[in-house]
Amino acid sequence: MKVLVAGGMGYIGSHTCVELLEKGYEVVIVDNLCNSSPEAAKRVAAITGKTPLFYELDVRDEKGLSAVFEKERPDCVIHFAGLKAVGESVEKPELYYDNNLGSTITLCRVMARQGCKKLIFSSSATVYSADNAMPLTENSKTGGCTNPYGWTKYFGERILTDIAKADPEWSVVLLRYFNPVGAHESGLMVEDPKGIPNNRMPYISQVAVGKLKELSVFGDDYPTHDGTGVRDYIHVVDLARGHVFAIDYLMSHTGAEAINLGTGTGYSVLDMVKAFGQASGAEVPYRIAPRRPGDIATCYADPTKSREVLGWKAERGLVDMCRDSFRWQSMNPNGYNG
Ligand code: NAD
Ligand code: UDP
Repeated sequence: MKVLVAGGMGYIGSHTCVELLEKGYEVVIVDNLCNSSPEAAKRVAAITGKTPLFYELDVRDEKGLSAVFEKERPDCVIHFAGLKAVGESVEKPELYYDNNLGSTITLCRVMARQGCKKLIFSSSATVYSADNAMPLTENSKTGGCTNPYGWTKYFGERILTDIAKADPEWSVVLLRYFNPVGAHESGLMVEDPKGIPNNRMPYISQVAVGKLKELSVFGDDYPTHDGTGVRDYIHVVDLARGHVFAIDYLMSHTGAEAINLGTGTGYSVLDMVKAFGQASGAEVPYRIAPRRPGDIATCYADPTKSREVLGWKAERGLVDMCRDSFRWQSMNPNGYNG
């Protein structure tokens, strides 16, 4: 079976390509490399012994994408291609709506024309409203997003749900990721953020290897066990495996289904700092800074549906996440550039 992976050179996409190739799927990557490097495909090949086919292309390029579909005839698609920096989305909303929604609409149009109507979409826990009780189930309230990035995920889900409603041949799985961290245990795959990272795990990793001076902990007065923000961190290899399980579901059902991919356990920023210190053998320097605007105190998943519907659950814990992040950061201190 052939899977077209849009955005497959990126962090989650490249880890998913590894899992797909190891399970015997054929993989075709389409990526414009706006936030990734062709080195990712070489690392995927080094791990799996199989080189994925790669087309350097913007998913919004309808003519180019149609030609890839004509040639490759994929059985299904995983759509990772999107921009994801929350702060940048506030500064450049039209860029985010154009890229994230434009890519989704173009992809669907080409897929429908080619008769390939099976799609897995990278959504996010960011689609949930801030006023929900924890844990978040798929029926928790959505909307009320605090930034354009979040709205692109919300509207992306809406568009795909409506497409699946209008044409019963479509099958769509909307995977709502919690906080992906870590890396493949080989240390060969990296999360390669351009510029200063704005999520905490790349930031902690760079502090641990001495590339950045200290971690700013955004707020220590939240109603959590130590006052710092709590999130549901999920190892990226578990997340990648979740997509492989979702393909089985996709091929045997129709309609649109939203499914959380999280562990169901929340850890605070200071829990992470401590665990990372243990994994790296050196304390991670930090200072308490003001709260970051728009942050909520606590966010974690109810993972029941992923277990019942996909038969998937996360297997890696906090120690694995920190150890694997530290390993790749030590082996590749400048990302794929050395
Ligand atoms: P990433 O930036 O590492 O990967 C995205 C890939 O898509 C990159 O290789 C980029 O070059 C490519 N891309 C972007 N726009 C494109 C376009 N128009 N045409 C072709 N390629 C394009 O990000 P990631 O962390 O791997 O995230 C993958 C998906 O998961 C994104 O849609 C993101 O919004 C979503 N997501 C990520 C997180 C997270 O914390 N990493 C959480 C929730 C959801
Ligand atoms: N965080 C932090 N310092 C940083 C980056 C993040 O204290 O440099 C905190 C942030 O306030 C939140 C948690 O770490 O409580 C997770 O933040 P991240 O941006 O990784 O994910 P999100 O907020 O999108 O869930």
